[in-house]
Amino acid sequence: MKCRARIILAVLLSSGLWLALKPTIQKRRITFLPVEWSQYLDRMDFWFNLIAFALLAAAAWLAFSPERRLWRALAWIIGSITVGNVLVEIAQTHIPGRAMDLADVVAGFFGAVIGCVGGLWVQLRCGRNESAGSPQVLFVDQTGRLGGAELMLLDLAIARAADSEVLLYQDGEFREALEQDGVKVQVLPLSGSTAAVDKQAGWLRVLQVVPELVQSVLQTALLARRFDVVYANTAKALIIGGPAAFLAGRKLVFHLHDIISAGHFSAMNRLALVFCANQFAHAVIANSEATKAAVHDAGGHVENVVVVPNGFKLTENRSTDAEQAALRANLGLPADAWIVLMAGRLTPWKGQHVLLEALRDVPDAHAILLGDALFTAEDREYAAQLRETAAQPALTGRVHLTGFRKDTQAFFDLADVIVHASVIAEPFGRVIVEGMLAGKPVIATRAGGAAEIITHEETGLLVTPGSAAELAAALRRLSDHPALASRLAAKARQTACDTYGLEAVRAKIEHVILSCASPTETHAPSTLQPVEVSP
Ligand code: UDP
Repeated sequence: MKCRARIILAVLLSSGLWLALKPTIQKRRITFLPVEWSQYLDRMDFWFNLIAFALLAAAAWLAFSPERRLWRALAWIIGSITVGNVLVEIAQTHIPGRAMDLADVVAGFFGAVIGCVGGLWVQLRCGRNESAGSPQVLFVDQTGRLGGAELMLLDLAIARAADSEVLLYQDGEFREALEQDGVKVQVLPLSGSTAAVDKQAGWLRVLQVVPELVQSVLQTALLARRFDVVYANTAKALIIGGPAAFLAGRKLVFHLHDIISAGHFSAMNRLALVFCANQFAHAVIANSEATKAAVHDAGGHVENVVVVPNGFKLTENRSTDAEQAALRANLGLPADAWIVLMAGRLTPWKGQHVLLEALRDVPDAHAILLGDALFTAEDREYAAQLRETAAQPALTGRVHLTGFRKDTQAFFDLADVIVHASVIAEPFGRVIVEGMLAGKPVIATRAGGAAEIITHEETGLLVTPGSAAELAAALRRLSDHPALASRLAAKARQTACDTYGLEAVRAKIEHVILSCASPTETHAPSTLQPVEVSP
């Protein structure tokens, strides 16, 4: 494509030069065109110029196939054509009988714009390879950090590493973890200001980053040509990957790990998410019934939403006594401390502050806050506040903030109880299942996905979101009644093994991918039949 485009570009450039010099040559009567033909061409000047320069710009676009700096390429091509045109027009003023014709410059400018868009369109639509075997999937995720959504994607991408690639909009430990397990990764980093647009961003904030978002959409679309399915794993991945999949003519699966509600997203972000899901997604995988219900409440189509929970490796592996002793010593935990573990990123809605409040009423308990402020400045401020609170006299020495750790298993093994304290509905809550699988009693808040995972008094205890008093009472209950704690933990482990095994979950997700990639499927996203997934 590039070679052919370069030849066309060379031909166009030389004919363009000839056209530019045409009047001069004509004066000397060495043109081979009959005079009446030249006059005819002169009358068609505007349209002739527009078409000629559109072809020139399209050839230039294809010859250089810009895939990274799209705006810069656009500016170069359109700018050079326009400047070239102006210079030719100025030169013409020196030829007797000819004057400057601004219409030619305007025609050249619009021709260049049309040509670049045409070139981009050809670039997007050509060279698509329909794969015969397993569908080729481009997983898209916005962050380089390891949140719950990324840990789920890590397992998916590793399992289909031979037929997939991951595209990230930020570099970080997520890329390292993927590459370590043989997954191909591309990073198209967003600038700091675009990356900082968070879930609560308003119109003005988003408008400022539209040019970069457009560039990311085009770059993602160019990359998506090599794949059968684009799999957007996060909200920002959908905003960029949705239009990109559409432009590249690829199927889009959206894995929804968030609750689309006012508590989690600004009005503008809710609107944009629902629009992209409705318009571009051929299937939406919601991680809980609560997440699916929120799609409906936000105005999304639920016909193509299928609920698939997160999956986890079922293993009997536990950390050794020596590892746990080392961890205890490292954190400065007394040998007989009753340990409460709260794992997850530090962010106000996760409710770490509620646990610290509850801890004042459970004087013998120690709390480990496993995790870090991963995404926003507000999270980092919150983490600093937590550290201040932890230093207060009632809590001194009893709260242990560890930062983000990859070796989470030892922490779960060390704990006597796992707490999940989100103050608003949790979309899913991986840490709850991880606690259950570790064979520990879990206390969670009664909302969203957490309330679907835990059955109160059977597989754990549920408390009212934001209620430190109820949380403290539940903690005291478990600390005072070890038999109750053991009963809940045993039932919880069995339930978690039966419901959240990684292989079963992966099979369901693969089914969704296969249904989308099926070449027989030709209807528009909004009219799709629900994807059937075996329970
Ligand atoms: N996690 C981790 N290291 C940490 C803290 C948390 O690997 O230091 C993991 C935790 O084990 C869980 C995930 O991060 O698998 C958090 O997922 P969850 O669904 O609870 O919350 P999310 O971040 O998706 O809102």
